[in-house]
Amino acid sequence: MDAVDVIRTKRDGGALSNAQIDWVIDAYTRGAVADEQMAALAMAIFLRGMTRTEISRWTAAMIASGERMDFTHLGATADKHSTGGVGDKITLPLVPLVAAHGVRVPQLSGRGLGHTGGTLDKLESIRGWRADVTPEAMLTQLRDVGGVICAAGAGLAPADKKLYALRDITSTVESIPLIASSIMSKKIAEGSGALVLDVKTGSGAFMQTEADARALARTMVDLGNDAGLATVALLTDMETPLGLTVGNALEVRESVEVLAGGGPTDVVELTVALAREMLTLAGRGDIDPADALADGRAMDVWRRMISAQGGDPDAPLPTSSHTEVITAPRGGYIVAMPARPIAIAAWRLGAGRARKEDPVDLAAGVEIHRKPGDRVTAGEPVLTLHTTDPAKFGRALEALTEAVAYGSESVPISSTRVIDRIA
Ligand code: URA
Repeated sequence: MDAVDVIRTKRDGGALSNAQIDWVIDAYTRGAVADEQMAALAMAIFLRGMTRTEISRWTAAMIASGERMDFTHLGATADKHSTGGVGDKITLPLVPLVAAHGVRVPQLSGRGLGHTGGTLDKLESIRGWRADVTPEAMLTQLRDVGGVICAAGAGLAPADKKLYALRDITSTVESIPLIASSIMSKKIAEGSGALVLDVKTGSGAFMQTEADARALARTMVDLGNDAGLATVALLTDMETPLGLTVGNALEVRESVEVLAGGGPTDVVELTVALAREMLTLAGRGDIDPADALADGRAMDVWRRMISAQGGDPDAPLPTSSHTEVITAPRGGYIVAMPARPIAIAAWRLGAGRARKEDPVDLAAGVEIHRKPGDRVTAGEPVLTLHTTDPAKFGRALEALTEAVAYGSESVPISSTRVIDRIA
């Protein structure tokens, strides 16, 4: 086998054979195919696409590059993946909510890069909490507490790890076959019995158009089901930030409010909708998940999950030393609040990182007081910016010049974030 032949096949619009795919993924992981050759192949795939058969084999080859976990001996298990959004803290209340109903949730999560936040960064705002858990401790926690949110070990789909880093620097990330195989190789290797995908669309999402988000969801659902992992996707709206907070500690605070039976309606709705899908796939479709938010059972699991990983669920969360309030310049209604500028502002305030090794400011972020559809009077607070470094306000404010649109008339706001269900 020869990398040049594989690249030429795809460059000329052909389909890669199973043998070509198995060879190129394995050889790239071993270092026998060079980065520049894989970069050329990734660009050819970006431009030419892949058939369903090719995507499925590509995914299988990436799974085979590393270890595969198996939690099925623990009984019903379910996992969730979100394609990422602004203010998306859903994993935090969702995992204990599903676990409170007896379905175990092994949730391997990541850190944020660029303007997107990472679940592990958020949880690290809790004093003492550790993201790294040994496989043995993970099993014990899953058995005894029911849920774990932790960092993925390096052994899971190492081919994807290497390829994703290469795609990041060669402008080949936004390809549906490459995104779908990247996400699903890790999720299938994680070894849970069921998977619910939250595929976002809108200004704050990876896939900004609904058609692209639908195509990605369809591809991932088919990949999961073809590999024997029961998979369903919800297509959800990420035009405006989810909930009222963007930033690590701010989002933990809001998640705890949801676990205490309160919190913003959109966060509660999406948490319950995803929990219902996870429970249904795990054979517990008879349950109404919302009950465990109202009666404190999900909060009990949350507290035990945090303590099991060294965290103090009662410790005060970090708070910012500096704030800046943005007020409504006029009376009327808020008619739009695109998620992207808010995410960029939160990132510039210190909530996110530009390079993998950068630290994050756990207290930094944006608090939202009014959202589209809300009436405002002139001078009323709309956003509060938080940071520990006031020099960061200038660039954050620049990102926000077009972040809130005002009008004299109210606009219709959908009462649900869920656009469709793709099974
Ligand atoms: N997340 C992933 O894990 N892989 C991608 O390709 C894109 C998002």
